Amino acid sequence: MNRTKIEYLDYTTNPTVGCSGLGCAVAKECWAAKQAKRQKHKCAICYSFVPHVHWERFDDFLSVKKPSRIGVSFMGEFFDKEISNWVRKDYYLHMMKAPQHMFIIFTKQPQNIDDEELPPNLSIGVSVNRKKDLWRIDVLRQVKCQYRIVSFEPLYEDLSDVNLEGIDWVIIGGQTRPKLLPSYPWVLGLIQRAKALNLPVFIKNNLKEVMARWPPLREYPHQEMEKVRA
Ligand code: SF4
Ligand SMILES: [Zn+2]
Repeated sequence: MNRTKIEYLDYTTNPTVGCSGLGCAVAKECWAAKQAKRQKHKCAICYSFVPHVHWERFDDFLSVKKPSRIGVSFMGEFFDKEISNWVRKDYYLHMMKAPQHMFIIFTKQPQNIDDEELPPNLSIGVSVNRKKDLWRIDVLRQVKCQYRIVSFEPLYEDLSDVNLEGIDWVIIGGQTRPKLLPSYPWVLGLIQRAKALNLPVFIKNNLKEVMARWPPLREYPHQEMEKVRA
């Protein structure tokens, strides 16, 4: 388990690493694959980025007693079709041994969440970059978990008419490398959509430049996370 600079998390852990890239708009710029390649000296399969399991990390969070937000498998896709559901079930049992923590998993393959009920301390986020990805929000609405999160990072299109009913938290961000910032009306449209439902919105630090440049955006709180405090 590692301390992280991701603004809304305390730690990340990677019980699984790798991703098949199915339906991913940003596979070419994949940050996770770059991070996994850096693990070459520890694990050759991490370097290949083929989805695989690291059993030795299944309970690494048990040594942390302080309630923390923990991002799971950010170095890949936890719900990848190449990872068996019994592996996930085993990991859920470990999560339930640490009810003080809040675990967050982001996915682009929510169709592979086949458990009717997930651990009460597990929040699921779907990544949505373009209109083509909006179906993931419909799937997420059916999932029983602690909080349902939608991450628009990086935001590639105007999604101002998105349906956010049944969602608890919205994250908006840009692309860091290569730098690609969304246009300001797209960000404003999403914030207004979320605020119409009274949802907390978290604007990633990589959008600070966009937020500072446009006066209407400055009116909104930038990094809300009250509802999702661990
Ligand atoms: S889904 Fe995530 S981990 Fe997989 S290729 Fe896309 S960005 Fe990388
Ligand atoms: Zn590995």
